[in-house]
Amino acid sequence: MSNAHGAKECILVAGGAGFIGASLCRRLLRQGHAVICLDSFLTGDSRNIAPLRDNPRFTLIRHDVIEPIPTDIFPTQIYNLACPASPPHYQADPIHTLRSCVDGAYNLLELARRTGARILQASTSEVYGDPSVNPQPEAYRGNVNMVGPRSCYDEGKRCAETLFSDYGKRKQVTVKIARIFNTYGPFMSRNDGRLVSNLVLQALTGRKLTIYGDGSQTRSLCYVDDLIEGLVRLMASEDGLSSPVNLGNPDENTVLDIAKAVRRLTSSRSVFEFLPLPIDDPLQRCPDITLARRFLRWNPSVDMDTGLRRTVEYFRRTQPGLEPSGIVPAGYKASWG
Ligand code: NAD
Repeated sequence: MSNAHGAKECILVAGGAGFIGASLCRRLLRQGHAVICLDSFLTGDSRNIAPLRDNPRFTLIRHDVIEPIPTDIFPTQIYNLACPASPPHYQADPIHTLRSCVDGAYNLLELARRTGARILQASTSEVYGDPSVNPQPEAYRGNVNMVGPRSCYDEGKRCAETLFSDYGKRKQVTVKIARIFNTYGPFMSRNDGRLVSNLVLQALTGRKLTIYGDGSQTRSLCYVDDLIEGLVRLMASEDGLSSPVNLGNPDENTVLDIAKAVRRLTSSRSVFEFLPLPIDDPLQRCPDITLARRFLRWNPSVDMDTGLRRTVEYFRRTQPGLEPSGIVPAGYKASWG
């Protein structure tokens, strides 16, 4: 499989049918690589990868990463994105989430060791928990609850980082660890309870916009194309860069300001509905991306308004009828995909 159809590299994307994974598969195919998408479809959507199925360089394997990876694949690069990312999904079966993080990392690292592939872990800003330092540099060790409703994800991702680090040191595997901050954009699942998809869907259907707490908590939103560029650069970085690298957009906004932007860009007249803050919800989230700027020459380029417009357009385009007012924001021009 490694050199099918004149491909440059054979790249395994575990979790390739999800929001970020599907964009990554598209990008890697465009670059001329062969792509193996391995996914259990726990939260992935076959429609995300449907247009890729006809590409002779694309292979789909339905598999759960908590089980050993099939031995008949020989990738040269592995991206590990296989884990549900939204709280309602990862909290639905916390033990399976934890096993996806830890057993999944172990199984994919073993594949990397056997095949000599480089391997990148999609870690998360949630390893910082509810931080007492803002913005968060990679050196900050976090403030994470080990036994709360978010722990299966936060601690699972922390443990996966440890496994990656030790495989790098003890098993001579070339490892990369991306700490991904809130990412949004086209191909987000519209019903997975994440901030941007929630707000956009509520605005487009004329429902109240849900704000947890008083909306003063902050989030830094990274547009998916920027993130993909960062992941590809990190994978290609020099072998010695094996420590975690933050990937996110340092443009920090309150949740209330993000909701106001969504309301403005959808021309919605929806009112806000304030609900209690979920347990252990971080009050501030902002990446320090000094390392990514220095070592990857990476800087996010899509500002929040542009990214949100593209996301709104995607939701409208893929679900006709999501148009309460019939008004397209002045000056808007669709430019994604
Ligand atoms: P997603 O839920 O859309 O995609 C995850 C994909 O992994 C899905 O296709 C799902 O079916 C698959 N999957 C889940 N468990 C699996 C398992 N045990 N075996 C095989 N496949 C499995 O989430 P996403 O937003 O695309 O996130 C992708 C990765 O990036 C995740 O690892 C997530 O933790 C990480 N991440 C995402 C964000 C974000 O803002 N989207 C932020 C930080 C980290």
